[in-house]
Amino acid sequence: MTETQVGVLSCSGEEFLGGTLVRLATRKVMEELRPGKVVTLCLPLYIAGGEEEREFAKNYPVIAVDGCDKCCAKVATLKYSGEVHDTIVLTELLDRNVILSKIVSARELRPEHYAMADIVASEICKKVDEILAEQ
Ligand code: SF4
Repeated sequence: MTETQVGVLSCSGEEFLGGTLVRLATRKVMEELRPGKVVTLCLPLYIAGGEEEREFAKNYPVIAVDGCDKCCAKVATLKYSGEVHDTIVLTELLDRNVILSKIVSARELRPEHYAMADIVASEICKKVDEILAEQ
């Protein structure tokens, strides 16, 4: 935990492509692009009352990454921890019609979807780097 300075809370949407993409992107940031710099917080556990997740969000900057403009991750963070350092909403970043399409299984993903996940991942990295530069 000592090296970890930024939390990324992605929504857990199962209904739209956007939910799948935020999870792919967040995992890529954590495992490949900024290993050791970020932790991901589990939204269902967070909502269910996971003390460790909520404490982390109270004490460290959190970026909420949401698949659509219902902003479930942002809303949960504001409700349970009080502050969101930054947000990414996929329907504002990428083609809304594609993001809200019903492609939800990883088996259905095509190369262009992985390319979209890479755009989201690089957007997360930008925000992580900004936060780390401020500290
Ligand atoms: S933000 Fe949108 S895609 Fe994500 S969990 Fe909420 S409704 Fe689903």
